[in-house]
Amino acid sequence: MLRRDFLVTAGRQAAALALGALFARRVGGDSTVIERYSAWDDPFKLGVASGMPGPDSVVLWTRLAPRPREPLGGLPDAPVPVRWELAEDEHFSKGFRTGETLARPEHAHSVHVEVEGLASDRRWFYRFHAGAATSPLGRTRTAPAADAPAGRLRLALASCQHYEQGEFAVHREIAERDLDLVLFVGDYIYESSNPRLLVRAHEALRPLDLAAYRQRHVTYKLDANLRACHAAHPWLLTWDDHEVENDYAGLAPADVKASAEDFASTRAAAYKAYFEHLPVSPKLLGDARSPRIHAQHRWGRLAELWTLDGRQYKNPQACNAPGRAGGRVLGACAELDDAGRTMLGAEQEAWIAAQLAASERPWRLIGQGTQIARGGIETPLGRSIFSDGWDGYPHARQRLLAAIAASAARGGNVVCLGGDVHRHVVAALRAEADDERTPIVAAELVTTSVTSRGLSENTAALLRRQNADLLHARGDERGYVAIELTPQRLQADLRATAFPVVADAKLHSQAKYVVEAGQPKPQRD
Ligand code: FE
Ligand code: CA
Repeated sequence: MLRRDFLVTAGRQAAALALGALFARRVGGDSTVIERYSAWDDPFKLGVASGMPGPDSVVLWTRLAPRPREPLGGLPDAPVPVRWELAEDEHFSKGFRTGETLARPEHAHSVHVEVEGLASDRRWFYRFHAGAATSPLGRTRTAPAADAPAGRLRLALASCQHYEQGEFAVHREIAERDLDLVLFVGDYIYESSNPRLLVRAHEALRPLDLAAYRQRHVTYKLDANLRACHAAHPWLLTWDDHEVENDYAGLAPADVKASAEDFASTRAAAYKAYFEHLPVSPKLLGDARSPRIHAQHRWGRLAELWTLDGRQYKNPQACNAPGRAGGRVLGACAELDDAGRTMLGAEQEAWIAAQLAASERPWRLIGQGTQIARGGIETPLGRSIFSDGWDGYPHARQRLLAAIAASAARGGNVVCLGGDVHRHVVAALRAEADDERTPIVAAELVTTSVTSRGLSENTAALLRRQNADLLHARGDERGYVAIELTPQRLQADLRATAFPVVADAKLHSQAKYVVEAGQPKPQRD
């Protein structure tokens, strides 16, 4: 290190440490330290976010990074004090709450504050202060109390936002909507590139370590529309594969040349960077080796919503030749008949079955990464199966469908919400996926991607023709699904645009569907 660089670094460290001491004595003493800090760039360039809205709590997030492209965002390897504020009004008077925390270098100076003891079913504004800098304003809300009368839930379902393949026009529109929450079901970042589909470029080639995954998350957070969408609504998240690596399964990398040990540390780095950059429970920050992200959420007496983790516990895809891994299109093969293969892992599978069996709420929503309904097309060798999706885990799917069917048989509706396939899909889920003589037990809504490219209309038409339970399937447009849920019905507006290469692209309604209470099959609205 050059002496001059050392002095700059040492100076910054001294400033941060002094600032820490200052906060220990409460703000208001030595203003020179704050001025020195504020002479740096704005530390809130990555924005603010909130998530996990409970009936009396919500998680507030930011990450201090005055120079986001530098290691540790341009901050010294020392904790930096941050003050958070939350209130019911944007002048921060009504129901005002505040507190101090430390943005720690071991978590890239990210801040995850779980504010508790809040009034339920309220809108809140929040912001952060670090030194003399104040963050942008965020809006969030708390869920209705668990026993509150069933009211209404409005959410946006989104997934698959390849930065290189388009602009986040979807997030611009979601940010402007009056909503309760955003449910994002995976592929928040992409680790890989397709040079043929380049609207704008990632900062580097694919990440493999913590510093590189942090940089990838920075690239996404520097998008103004994505930041606006985080600032506008609380998010619930689950992940799919690209947060780590395309088609990984459990601790099996899709790149067979990688050693198991190397992949385990790559996966932990990717998980850690993900937690650092998203409004998830602070408990996850210390547990990137085997974090539990599947969770139960409630919305008054109206709905229960479970997020599932379809990656961490998944068995490798079936019927790969030796030396090959990941998903591919298959015909029938013996390994598919192995009843022991799992998508969710035995523990999570038992957990969701027990949750579905116990839920008393009329609407039971399952948020997970991909499409549950059968897809595939007829070929001379039989029906094609994409081995990474639920089609490639038929016994595991059957166990999930049995739990769904048992739950629906007690009354109420189960609705599955998915992503990953880069097409809007509305489907009827049957008690047995491969048998059209069995009854419809649930509805499925799968969102198209925010940007990632999908199937042509020719292929989608073939899919629709050969899968009668796919009531809708279109891969030629990008978008999200706007969902409004009341005791009487669930309404879904499949928002879409053919032109996500333009930041101000306007979205339209590709189709609208409704699920009436007590009737599992979705109807065209
Ligand atoms: Fe995707
Ligand atoms: Ca995926």
